Amino acid sequence: MRLQKVTGFIVYGFPLGEADQIISCFTSSGNLIKFIAKGSRKVKSKSAAAVQLFILGEYVIYCGKGLPILRQADIIDSFSPLRRDWAKSGAAFAAMELCRLLIAEEARETEAFQLVMTYMLHLKTEDYEPIVFDSFRLKLAASLGYEMGFSHCSQCGGPLESGWLYWPAGGAVCTRCRGQGKTHVNTENLLLLQALGQRSFSQLKGQYSSQAMTATKIVDSLINWLTEGKTKAQAFRSLFEG
Ligand SMILES: [Zn+2]
Repeated sequence: MRLQKVTGFIVYGFPLGEADQIISCFTSSGNLIKFIAKGSRKVKSKSAAAVQLFILGEYVIYCGKGLPILRQADIIDSFSPLRRDWAKSGAAFAAMELCRLLIAEEARETEAFQLVMTYMLHLKTEDYEPIVFDSFRLKLAASLGYEMGFSHCSQCGGPLESGWLYWPAGGAVCTRCRGQGKTHVNTENLLLLQALGQRSFSQLKGQYSSQAMTATKIVDSLINWLTEGKTKAQAFRSLFEG
């Protein structure tokens, strides 16, 4: 028997046949794994609750030929306060989608896992705030090796008072290094982006609300670049944000 026990977030469930699902799980070892949860689409299934989106659980899988099969599932945290709140569950779905799109199978992105955990726990007790969600997304990119710089030109290293965003260069660049950078950022924008990357979620609470829309636009463009435009879940925001 090749049984393996993993702890992680359920990031995706794909229907298989009439009653089964192929589940994607972002594990605490920082990997994205897939397994089959038999019967998990039946109402009376024991495992159905434990393989819902953004459940944190402990899963025992049997690895044989083909995809591993789920043998046992235990919920560690169902994040129920998020499920009762539309904005919070929207943010949680979007966070899971980013994990699904950006984490590779044997990626060992443990820093990203910790960050997702921190954000999910933050959402349990604090109100949903756009600026905190954007900070989460910017930090998630950084944890995956896409740390963007906003204090100096990412190309020549010169100091920046204003500049242009150019993600392939690694953040903001000066006018001389502008290249294909299309979005102009002023001093205020640059300071905002630095704060989003550096401050904790609770430090950002209630801050920068006048710049929230700018932050969203900029971080959206980063995420679109990273996911090659595949992300859809971010659309939830237009429903909750003015
Ligand atoms: Zn430059």
